[in-house]
Amino acid sequence: MQTLQKLSNRLFYLPPYQKTDRPILAAIVGDNQTLLIDSGNSSNHAKQFKEQLTSYHIVGDILALTHWHWDHVFGLYEMDMPSIANVITNDKITQLQELSWEDKELDERVKAGIEIPFCADAIKLELGSNREVIIQNPTIIFEKRIRLNLGGVTCIIEHVGGDHSSDSNLIYILEEKALFLGDCLYANMYAEKWHYTIEKMYKLLEKIESYNAEIYFLSHHPAPLTKDEFDRFALLLKTSASLTQKHHGELNAVAAEMSSHFERELTEDDLEIITYFVNGYA
Ligand SMILES: [Zn+2]
Repeated sequence: MQTLQKLSNRLFYLPPYQKTDRPILAAIVGDNQTLLIDSGNSSNHAKQFKEQLTSYHIVGDILALTHWHWDHVFGLYEMDMPSIANVITNDKITQLQELSWEDKELDERVKAGIEIPFCADAIKLELGSNREVIIQNPTIIFEKRIRLNLGGVTCIIEHVGGDHSSDSNLIYILEEKALFLGDCLYANMYAEKWHYTIEKMYKLLEKIESYNAEIYFLSHHPAPLTKDEFDRFALLLKTSASLTQKHHGELNAVAAEMSSHFERELTEDDLEIITYFVNGYA
């Protein structure tokens, strides 16, 4: 079981759990209101988070969604509070409400290439035999950007999109210099080949770097990144993008120049990133 982490009196998070694809959940505690980030991948996940918050006498008042994917929205019913989403997330949730999560329907969607095999497996594992999922409609729907005053803490939620999901938001906690990136820096996985596209990545990184942050939360990374760690990750993404462009998507050429550029052997993670850019190169 994951344990709630306290980073300051204002900032708490529950680490992700890879086995059933549970993302990070967070609480931003203001003097007047507490914002929760994402609802979790099931009622159990949401309940676990709420219970651990209770032990710190924290109760969520309002919830912001980073994007529509199942693992971020299936806990909405259990969270039972007003939620904030952008227009695209809202539309996607309306589509999710129509779907069945039983084995048969999940397997059919995997076969049709609409559902990702590892998501279907994680859904089965997380939900067990209770596949009744109620995904409530978000309460507050915004287009581009919304600013919240929680009392002593300011949160900016901005729609940034990106390859992973076109509805991705980032959530910036001004006084804490904390930036929640959801899954926006991960690849597009709802495609035949998982991929990044060069233009979307440049645009996204430019947007992210316009925020003055010292701690970065990626929803499926085990721990938040420091500024240095994030900068190194961003540099890796930018270098991969520019070398993919330069070598016209030739994987071996990109890998060779990357290795000499950074003067080190490439890791599996490096190669995965390069492969995603090569897959997205057209
Ligand atoms: Zn996602």
